[in-house]
Amino acid sequence: MFCKNCGDEVKEGQMVCLNCGFGPTKNNNFCHHCGADSVEGQIVCIKCGFEIKPSSVHDIYINEVKYELMKPYYQIEFRKIEETNEIYNGKFNWSAFLFSWMWCFTKGLTKQAFTVVVISIVTMGIGLIVMSVYLGANGTKLYYRVCRGEDFWF
Ligand SMILES: [Zn+2]
Ligand SMILES: [Zn+2]
Repeated sequence: MFCKNCGDEVKEGQMVCLNCGFGPTKNNNFCHHCGADSVEGQIVCIKCGFEIKPSSVHDIYINEVKYELMKPYYQIEFRKIEETNEIYNGKFNWSAFLFSWMWCFTKGLTKQAFTVVVISIVTMGIGLIVMSVYLGANGTKLYYRVCRGEDFWF
């Protein structure tokens, strides 16, 4: 991994670049994957083809609605998740816990919503309890990741 601010090599999960003191995912001066030059707004690295993600949560768009229009709760939580390089999971998300798959649907977590429904049916409801607790604990981060345009399961 390479620091997106100065291009110096950083370890996976490292919170601060020892060369420049920035968070390694701040700014978009260099590709996070190969260290090649990149600029703000660039979509893929022209050297390695790696997708260049938005440098900050301020660049996040959800269904054409700007990040600034999101609920303050998520703005604050997303900022904390970003600042800790996704080590912080977000506060326990009671909406995600209580509404599980329905919550997933409203947050654009479509694959996850279907998975929760299927697991619930297969396990005759027992899986739903497990999944609800999981979503409560991790829901905010899953939502953060989907807002960043990541493609993932859990
Ligand atoms: Zn750096
Ligand atoms: Zn690259």
